[in-house]
Amino acid sequence: SYAATIAFAGNPNSGKTTLFNALTGARQRVGNYPGITVERKEGQFNFNDLKVNIIDLPGCYSLSAYSEEELVARKVLVDERPQVVVDIVDATKLERHLYLAVQLFELGVPVVLALNMIDDANKQGLRIDTARLSKLLGCPVVATAARTGLGKQELTEKALAHGRERAGKWEPLYISYGPDIDPALKTMSEKIEAGCFMTNRYPARWVALKYMEADEDVLGAGRLLGELHDELEKIVAETREHCLKTLNTVPEAIIADYRYGFINSILKQEIITREKTQEERI
Ligand code: GDP
Ligand code: MG
Repeated sequence: SYAATIAFAGNPNSGKTTLFNALTGARQRVGNYPGITVERKEGQFNFNDLKVNIIDLPGCYSLSAYSEEELVARKVLVDERPQVVVDIVDATKLERHLYLAVQLFELGVPVVLALNMIDDANKQGLRIDTARLSKLLGCPVVATAARTGLGKQELTEKALAHGRERAGKWEPLYISYGPDIDPALKTMSEKIEAGCFMTNRYPARWVALKYMEADEDVLGAGRLLGELHDELEKIVAETREHCLKTLNTVPEAIIADYRYGFINSILKQEIITREKTQEERI
């Protein structure tokens, strides 16, 4: 039996597999998720006498149902409930890569952020204040360079400690989506909570958000519900119409804007400073 299962999440090409290999060496198993072509990769390693299991999730930009990869990633998280998720981000593309982190925070699973490719970031003259970022995001942050193994010990320590600390408790982050969407989300969340719709797996507000984003997977499950589904759909339709009429945009776009707003409100607090690179100094 394992002391913990860690899931690796991240955008494609953020270095997940490189870090996974650096930690597990040859102790890996590769298979497929049942019925689909998405690869399932799992590995083990020992850390201070503890047996640790890692699942390398498929690369994804978000936790929507737009691709099989994203759907698999979120299903593994809610069905297998790893103790902790290590979200591997490319430190040179922080703003874009934090979008997935925000979704993980909203889901509520314990997250540790790996600022990977820190070697590339430093070569570009970027200095990232990991302590400050950690404080503002409310999760441990570790700089890593998966290619050289830099930071992998600290990352493992922090991931295991964070998983232990949270002890299986999911704490979803509340993000405001503004006056055009928040009231609808609140009403929907209450209905979802009262109807216990998917709430054994997801936070109620998260289910409401997925309805608002027209997530096919959640809608598909909802269609089996009858009355509750119709009520939720009605609120979504009204909100959509309101957003189109007054803002000339759809709820999905507003939701994405607010998520980037959340990210940028943090990044503008002197998280990244840029020094001249060696070449620029000459
Ligand atoms: P994945 O898609 O997230 O699994 O990413 P990979 O592990 O396949 O890595 C994508 C590319 O980035 C590969 O060419 C790696 O060698 C490279 N890479 C991974 N980690 C680092 C790192 O920390 N620094 C640098 N410079 N390159 C890295
Ligand atoms: Mg990979």
